[in-house]
Amino acid sequence: MPFASYEHEGRCHIGRVEGDEVVALVGPSELGRETTTEVLASLVESGVRVPVTDVRLRPVVPQPDKVICVGLNYKAHVGETGRDMPEYPVLFTKFASALIGAYDPIVVPAASAQVDYEAELAVVIGREGRRIAPERAHEHVLGYSVANDVTMRDYQYKTHQWLQGKAWEGSTPLGPYLYTPDEVDVAAAGLRTILNGTKLQDSDTSLLIFDIPTLISTISEFTTLLPGDVILTGTPGGVGYRRDPQVFLKPGDEVVVEIDGLGSVRNTVVLERA
Ligand code: MG
Repeated sequence: MPFASYEHEGRCHIGRVEGDEVVALVGPSELGRETTTEVLASLVESGVRVPVTDVRLRPVVPQPDKVICVGLNYKAHVGETGRDMPEYPVLFTKFASALIGAYDPIVVPAASAQVDYEAELAVVIGREGRRIAPERAHEHVLGYSVANDVTMRDYQYKTHQWLQGKAWEGSTPLGPYLYTPDEVDVAAAGLRTILNGTKLQDSDTSLLIFDIPTLISTISEFTTLLPGDVILTGTPGGVGYRRDPQVFLKPGDEVVVEIDGLGSVRNTVVLERA
């Protein structure tokens, strides 16, 4: 059964999701630095059980030390951008403040006219490591979740660095739950974006150019991966910016990103108040 970070009656908890209910666990109040693979496996239930519909799901890891994102990691997406195939993963970061819960509104700024969606598989780290060999990468994975790497394209392309288009505060749904590797196989999981009922991305994680072991190994060469760190593994083809005509998110839209076996994030787009 998957894990959630959630808020209920003003308090934050980690819970185990059982059907329509979530059972609070005793210990840390959210998934993150403290919840190594060993800690998560040892948490006991508090006995407090509430309907999932009565809680607010927080980003599955609300305050990671690092969110590292991969660009151009599906052939079809590289193709639609007209770029060369990367020989080394294209890496960028987001801040924890960019993350929102699975059903929170995506607050878009009036200053951007090009807010785009990106369906992505998220990997959460459960064991600290540096210079992790690809064949040992699986030992460092706590679990998997779903993300929408919402991107302000006009800001992304202001410079060769993408930060300002990728790290907008309150823009990136991450959730709904964390599934441990023994519960789900993400080697060939379908992932999709559905905007107002229309499917706009439809691919499969087996098509990743740099697979999860390669990403963990590459990133941990230059920085220590810590429990709770999140890696967004890149998006397939079909992003709004590259469609003809282009498609962008606007207030009132409902955008869903789903991955087989991991559920979906479902968010309404609202305009940021000045
Ligand atoms: Mg992305």
